[in-house]
Amino acid sequence: MHTTKDPILTTAIELTEQDDHLALRQTLIDGVKHSTGVENVSLFEMKVNYDSDKEEREEEGKQAIIYYRNAMDQNALFKNIEQRKMMHEALKKRAVRSDTNPNNRNKRYAIPILGGVISEILSVETNKISENSFHTIDFLVKIYRNYMLLLNKYERDALTGLLNRRSFEERLNRCINQMLETTLKEKDAAEKGQSIPTEEIPHLAVLDIDHFKLVNDTYGHLYGDDVLLLFSNKMKESFSAETSLYRFGGEEFVVVMNSSKSNALAELEKFRKEIERFNFPQVGTVTVSIGFTQIDDGCTVSSSIIDRADQALYYAKEHGRNRTCSYDELIKSGELVKKTIEEGETELF
Ligand code: GH3
Ligand code: MG
Ligand code: MG
Repeated sequence: MHTTKDPILTTAIELTEQDDHLALRQTLIDGVKHSTGVENVSLFEMKVNYDSDKEEREEEGKQAIIYYRNAMDQNALFKNIEQRKMMHEALKKRAVRSDTNPNNRNKRYAIPILGGVISEILSVETNKISENSFHTIDFLVKIYRNYMLLLNKYERDALTGLLNRRSFEERLNRCINQMLETTLKEKDAAEKGQSIPTEEIPHLAVLDIDHFKLVNDTYGHLYGDDVLLLFSNKMKESFSAETSLYRFGGEEFVVVMNSSKSNALAELEKFRKEIERFNFPQVGTVTVSIGFTQIDDGCTVSSSIIDRADQALYYAKEHGRNRTCSYDELIKSGELVKKTIEEGETELF
């Protein structure tokens, strides 16, 4: 409960109360609306990559843009070329840029919020805005940015910039809840005789670099760290923007993707082969073993999903490494046997 009624101060306080990126973004959007009276406020996210040989990217100096998307809807890529150009300019020049929306003659402003790999743009569209409102936006954006960077540090691994294990638990639980909701909706629809399109199924993969101890022992820990960094950069390049990438610890990584079963295998295999082909400076060739599983409504505990993927990973390690194994396929073919009580589940007496 705040005693102040000043919308600017209220927003400032609310920004520092959020512990999750989406909530933080929504607080900024709502706060800017309330404090300036402008209705049309949105936030865009832009991801850049420094390697420049991918086709879909727009080259800009060394920085290549991978995508722009609406920051509040991870699946909504933003394709308005004119507005993208303006946003790009704002980020490059680190300053506010504006143009006129040809549909309604309103002015559009792009306010850059610079992050690391991911930067954001606050977009404000209006026919009238005061100098004072700009100061307010600037004030709120500065608090937002500082807080965003702090949240990033909390959620991300310092060496690779991937999400850390702490974020994993929270996000996976969110994913499980979403999936259970979808299952309920599907059941409900089926009972009513309707059919709703089956969405893509989430998959979880555990990736473990092969014989990594040997890399450390042969070339030293610093080269080992370099392999981890290059390996995670390859992950960022290889997997689609919607895939969540985690460093789970040491040389172990986790990927959570939304795709059909054959796509999941294809994407993981593509990555495994990219690593196999890559020449790591000094170290040379490094390979990775991968185990993955479908996140279905049978796994309501995150540890049971990890355990399944781990069993498939262990199988891959035991059968020659540098391969991708599916838990679900191994169960089907009888090469793995389902545990009766999965770890993480409690038995009731
Ligand atoms: P396997 O193919 O069975 O996975 O063999 P491995 O050698 O990769 O597995 P093991 O678990 O025996 O070794 C993992 C090594 O990873 C041991 C540890 O020193 C190293 N490691 C863990 N974290 C880091 C890190 O942050 N930097 C570096 N350089 N090495 C790390
Ligand atoms: Mg290993
Ligand atoms: Mg390991």
